[in-house]
Amino acid sequence: DLERKNHKVLPRWVRINTLKTTLHSALETCRNDYTEVENWSQLSPSSFCIDALIPNLLAFHSSCNLITHNLYTVGHIILQDKASCFPVHILNPPLGACVIDACAAPGNKTSYLAACVGKQGRVYAFERDNQRVQTLSTMMEKSGADCVHIQHLNFLKSNPCNFANVTHMLLDPSCSGSGIVNRLDYLVESQQQIDQDRLAKLAEFQVQIILHAMKFPSAKKISYSTCSIHPQENEHVVMRVLDKIQDWTLANQQDVLPSWETRGIAEECGGDKGLLLHFGIPLMIDLAHSLVRCNPGADGTIGFFAALFVRKSSNKRTLQ
Ligand code: SAM
Repeated sequence: DLERKNHKVLPRWVRINTLKTTLHSALETCRNDYTEVENWSQLSPSSFCIDALIPNLLAFHSSCNLITHNLYTVGHIILQDKASCFPVHILNPPLGACVIDACAAPGNKTSYLAACVGKQGRVYAFERDNQRVQTLSTMMEKSGADCVHIQHLNFLKSNPCNFANVTHMLLDPSCSGSGIVNRLDYLVESQQQIDQDRLAKLAEFQVQIILHAMKFPSAKKISYSTCSIHPQENEHVVMRVLDKIQDWTLANQQDVLPSWETRGIAEECGGDKGLLLHFGIPLMIDLAHSLVRCNPGADGTIGFFAALFVRKSSNKRTLQ
């Protein structure tokens, strides 16, 4: 109990899978089995709460073993950290949209995307790893995500011209995972051993993934996320892309979880080129406010970062 008060243990976040059930029906079951409380900091092993920010998201006490609960076994709920819902929530693809999930397995965000676009929509889910593509396939079947078309391919090798209808893209590439913690005292340990070479390689790959996504002719929104706490994979990656590209920018704060207080780190938004040196500190603060960060434990989530790129003009890009 003391640990929970000190926020050393995260709650178990649960997304209701609206592809198979409704909020109303899932809540009925939860209210039969658990007592409802106002917010996650009041959770006990016998209670749950509804999240005020993300629709269809619930929280349970860390000790709840929901894997054996009927709602989980039949695929009506998906165990997914609150922060990990942010990339889809800010991308917000409409019903019927055609979407790419570039780094999809195990597929928690993929099934969330499928729920957003519905049966008339389509989600192309790329995954290059053999084993992880099997997991992705199983997860999509279990969640009833019929509009997902799995592409067992390296996203970087995909031809943008073959996906001319894709308007929204979700990029959740491999990262250091330094924000993933169950007990927050582990974090201190992991922060002490930062492998700079590995971070540099990951960051280069993350930049390439974003630049490739920006070549898709009808893409107008791209969400980029990591479960890393390192600026090298977060603010620095975003700034490197903005330095290279003219026709994309960051969405304004009011379109990116405006009520969420933890934003990007302004001092890390300097970039290497003249643009920022010229406009200086106010621009860095503005850019940082467009970015979302989660500090592990502070709001009951893992460490996380999310950014939303939007295309400046609605004109289609000319592909070479
Ligand atoms: N978005 C997933 C979710 O929420 O369940 C988690 C994605 S995980 C951070 C990154 C995934 O991308 C891994 O499964 C990895 O194998 C895959 N991946 C990495 N590089 C890729 C590439 N170039 N093309 C396709 N998949 C890639």
